[in-house]
Amino acid sequence: MSKTLFEKIIDGEIPADMVYEDERCVAFRDVNPQAPFHVLLVPRKPIARLGHATEEDAPLLGHMLVVAPRIAREHGHEDFRVVINNGPTAGQSVYHLHLHILAGRPMGWPPG
Ligand code: AMP
Repeated sequence: MSKTLFEKIIDGEIPADMVYEDERCVAFRDVNPQAPFHVLLVPRKPIARLGHATEEDAPLLGHMLVVAPRIAREHGHEDFRVVINNGPTAGQSVYHLHLHILAGRPMGWPPG
């Protein structure tokens, strides 16, 4: 199986502006930011999309939801939005699960 784009970033084969790393996940700035603060939080495990996660992945997903606010807070953002696009109709373009963490501007609702 060929590596996903995000596996290549995790393995250091493609450069990225890393803001967080631990044994289970990494976070780096989105190359095409949609807010003043826009970071992607990515599990090292290459789950293609949220809908492919299993019960076994629950601790990893929980960990990421705990880490996301910490990353936002460390960059001065108490308020932020977390987005997961699942599948093409929902806007997913990279098939390696990732949380978008967006902050630094007012967020509209409903999302586009
Ligand atoms: P999604 O459309 O939800 O799959 O999100 C994929 C995100 O990856 C988009 O917001 C892209 O801007 C971002 N992206 C694509 N290539 C890179 C890259 N090399 N480094 C950082 N972010 C990227």
